[in-house]
Amino acid sequence: MDAENVIIIGSGPAGYTAAIYAARADLKPFQFEGQQLGGQPGGQLMLTTEVDNFPGFPEGLMGPEMMQRFKKQAERFGTRMEPKDVTRVDFSQRPFKVWAGETEHQAQSVIITTGAQAIWLGVPGEEKYQGHGVSACATCDGFFFRDKEVVIVGGGDSAMEEAMFLTKFASKVTVMHRRDELRASKIMQKRAMDNPKIEFAWSTVVTEVLGNGEKMTGLKIKDVKTGEEREFEAGGLFIAIGHKPNTGIFKDQLELDEQGYIVVRPGSMMTSVEGVFAGGDVVDHTYRQAITAAGTGCMAALDAERWLAEQE
Ligand code: NAP
Repeated sequence: MDAENVIIIGSGPAGYTAAIYAARADLKPFQFEGQQLGGQPGGQLMLTTEVDNFPGFPEGLMGPEMMQRFKKQAERFGTRMEPKDVTRVDFSQRPFKVWAGETEHQAQSVIITTGAQAIWLGVPGEEKYQGHGVSACATCDGFFFRDKEVVIVGGGDSAMEEAMFLTKFASKVTVMHRRDELRASKIMQKRAMDNPKIEFAWSTVVTEVLGNGEKMTGLKIKDVKTGEEREFEAGGLFIAIGHKPNTGIFKDQLELDEQGYIVVRPGSMMTSVEGVFAGGDVVDHTYRQAITAAGTGCMAALDAERWLAEQE
């Protein structure tokens, strides 16, 4: 079996950017696009609607269309792609082994861009209205909720930060938290509590997202102390209960941090295994933007190219 120069695992802005750079460096990359999110390649942007903050697109464009364009560009330079999930890897020796189901592939180097996914509530209506009122990214979608009343679920730093961001657009932001005490740091709590546009609904959980078939119109919520259920009118629901990186298949192979993200060496995108690189949200729990993922995907490909050249 001939080993590939580089196998890219994952799609999204990081994976396709890594593919563009690797293909243009004549490495003839092979990319497993993966389809964990919604049964299709493209990653988290496939679940958003309009993207207005990616530089170079002054009119904005839809997330799925943006991913189509990334993909086309990677194909234009000869990237071979398979829309499959990688199910197992062995990085213990070179060439590295990568399996998609029963099929084994080998590679001199690997770039991992499997991303992360928002943790969702898992209540009825939530999936149906994703992109139509329900979002897990205030930075991406907050702008579309100008003068609307919105709800944000969560009690951590992300929920506080996103609640404050949403006050720039929304007329009112209600933070709904399942306990009567926040998990967020004191300073973030204080900032959120001092903001006149933010209200708190304590010990409250969302049990259903209600809508008119086209977009969400409100929520069914429950007071966990009294058990009382009622409807709550809202134009948007933001979920901020954490993210999880897609690193299950790497946990015995690579160094991960305590939250499961892949650790890369300072000043590079090389992982704890020489010849294995990573980029995008799978290494980043701070910025989580399409543009930063594309940037680190590019860095991973440049690192792989240099490393492969050194091996010759
Ligand atoms: P987090 O700290 O894990 O908080 C998650 C919140 O969601 C908790 O309040 C939790 O409730 C709630 N939650 C979890 N599952 C839920 C469910 N099924 N239903 C309802 N509520 C649920 O996550 P995070 O806020 O995303 O932060 C992740 C890390 O990034 C943290 O270390 C945080 O400090 C850091 N961060 C820092 C900043 C900053 O400093 N600017 C900004 C964002 C994030 P309980 O409290 O009851 O468990």
